[in-house]
Amino acid sequence: MKKKAVIALGGNALVKKGQRGTIYEQFANTRKSVKSIVKMIKEGWDVVVTHGNGPQVGAILLQNKVAKGLTPAMPLGICVAESEGLIGYMIQQCLSNALKKEHIEKPVIALITQIIVDQNDPSLSNPTKPIGPYYDDDEAIELRKEGFQVVQQPNGWRMVVPSPDPKYIVEGESIKKMLDEGIIVIASGGGGMPVIEREDGGLDGLEAVIDKDLAAERLAEAVEAELLLILTDVERVYLYYNTPKQKTLDKISLEELKKYYEEGHFPPGSMGPKILAAIQFLESGGKKVIVANIEKCWEALQGETGTWIVKD
Ligand code: ADP
Ligand code: MG
Repeated sequence: MKKKAVIALGGNALVKKGQRGTIYEQFANTRKSVKSIVKMIKEGWDVVVTHGNGPQVGAILLQNKVAKGLTPAMPLGICVAESEGLIGYMIQQCLSNALKKEHIEKPVIALITQIIVDQNDPSLSNPTKPIGPYYDDDEAIELRKEGFQVVQQPNGWRMVVPSPDPKYIVEGESIKKMLDEGIIVIASGGGGMPVIEREDGGLDGLEAVIDKDLAAERLAEAVEAELLLILTDVERVYLYYNTPKQKTLDKISLEELKKYYEEGHFPPGSMGPKILAAIQFLESGGKKVIVANIEKCWEALQGETGTWIVKD
């Protein structure tokens, strides 16, 4: 029986804190990030890779903002697709170069992914996710006139968009087939493109973003993975995070984790969606979730670091 894993790369896989995010920095980081993926593939894992896109889509939105007098600005959904393409290309090339060095002949394919959301999702009428560049007061008024929602933050105004719950991945069946054929797939990057199903069965894009961890979970369900590996910038999941009472979780059962989730240990927008993804994955048949630092992915898989979340 082949072992299947979905690997979710956090923002720090591509842009480190304090970096400007030049393409050279991003490629250098990506080359490092794919090393442990190559190790997993060598060990016989079939993998689907997914990733965040916060800094990249922020940069694309800023480029659109600055250049809008020269060339038409693209809507958010298109910017998400652009970021999925650019990041997918980097991972695709870095991973396939690294595999070739190890004489592993496996195709690596990045796929633009659409994810169905419910058109009655409450977040669609109540956008709360801040994205993209900061705007001054005048620009914020302009944006409001153009129909965008903006909120004031300490450094200026930001656009807020809905972040609906992903239901299922349109290309899920195809991704599973590719995986079963031995193809390494990069999919649902940046959470994928949120779409709704029209009455005629067609799809329409939305001005929204999907959380990448929740999308990773749907991906893991779609390909029937046994492992969901969530790689980020902390070594482990903690209770009472960043307080004197902080407590490390190294191995935890689903039941216990649910209790801590309900107690509010994991904030929305960072650890919250990772834990929710873990709960949903194990409840829908997944075997194991590991949350670990991206630099220590391999060690985490051996049980030396990271937080292991299992059914019981
Ligand atoms: P990613 O790009 O990997 O999704 P996020 O910033 O969204 O990164 O999530 C990781 C962050 O979650 C960590 O840097 C950490 O500061 C934060 N975090 C919040 N609560 C916890 C917790 N209970 N345990 C560990 N990390 C936490
Ligand atoms: Mg995140």
